[in-house]
Amino acid sequence: MASALLPVYDQLGIEPVEGDGVRLTTADGRTLVDFYGGHAVALLGYRHPRLLAALAGQAHALFFQSNAVPLAVRERAARRLADFAPAGLDRVFLVNSGAEANENALRVALRTTGRDAVVALEGAFHGRTAAAGAVTWRARWYGFPRTPFEVRFVPREDADALARALADRDVAGVILEPVQGVAGAVALSDGYLATARSLTAAHDTLLIFDEVQCGMGRSGCPFVAHAAGVTPDLLTTAKGLAGGFPAGALLLSDSIAAGIGVGDLGTTFGGGPLACALIEATVEALADDGLLANVRARAEQIRAACAVGPVEAVTGRGLLVGLRTTRPARDVQEELLARGFLVGTSADPRVVRLLPPLVITAGDVAALAGALAELPS
Ligand code: PLP
Repeated sequence: MASALLPVYDQLGIEPVEGDGVRLTTADGRTLVDFYGGHAVALLGYRHPRLLAALAGQAHALFFQSNAVPLAVRERAARRLADFAPAGLDRVFLVNSGAEANENALRVALRTTGRDAVVALEGAFHGRTAAAGAVTWRARWYGFPRTPFEVRFVPREDADALARALADRDVAGVILEPVQGVAGAVALSDGYLATARSLTAAHDTLLIFDEVQCGMGRSGCPFVAHAAGVTPDLLTTAKGLAGGFPAGALLLSDSIAAGIGVGDLGTTFGGGPLACALIEATVEALADDGLLANVRARAEQIRAACAVGPVEAVTGRGLLVGLRTTRPARDVQEELLARGFLVGTSADPRVVRLLPPLVITAGDVAALAGALAELPS
């Protein structure tokens, strides 16, 4: 029967039907080690007992209520997340996706400063809605005829270009991914992030970190902001935030929050009880289960062991990894799939992207390195 779905995704030839830990079982009975986690969403892998218990418990107690009523589970999720975030980002607005979190971050920056331009980086990916698409590099606005505000793109790591873009003092915000994910796991240096912090502060421009892909423990710290020692004015996160349930969040400081009142932001599903129960459980697991130490150890192991076969360099930060390949990344992806490893690609045709669940083990990494070593270089 013909599919009723729009054919907008290029799809891999596997159909996962079950997941357990970092292993997927496909409809035709194969087992795959998941080094991609559904674009970084399966942060804790599959069938994580904390997530199953939180989801079942909350579904049984109260499936949904909107932001028109207070919910204890929403308060707890927001508090947990704020405590997990860098000090100074103590207020939370809960939404459903990365694009929605960025849309609201940009809205808040434009309204707070009263300015009408935004600076973004070449290579950036921030989502497909109007504002998020506008700050996405070469997105052609994702089908919209024009951007909703003026956008200036500057090259990565170029402090002079950033200073020039801010010189007219008309820039509301600078938005950047501390590790560009879709671009191919390109980590910005701590020095550049610190410069972006001081330049934006000097121009009364707000600094927005999009940690939708690189946040939630993936860097080996709660957020890259911690790892780099740079605190932005606004921080967005999503993807693994609720371990696989749709959820996004905008984190901001008390002083910016002071300018936001009833009716200024809104969403129907954001902050729903199921998402909140899963956000709470996810942050608890990250804090309690020693997962950040595992991220750091596995990241080091990948860097030491995976520059073999067709891989000429390893990029990224923590478990947002780019394997730069001598041959098309698509071919390497297919060859690894045939050997039982699911990996991703990126906008760079020579970068295989790894975004494994943070529970990936040393044995899994060693097995991937072994498979890579067997591939033609
Ligand atoms: N920001 C970054 C850094 C992303 O990687 C993505 C998705 O890949 C988004 C924003 C958009 O998130 P979503 O697809 O949940 O809207």
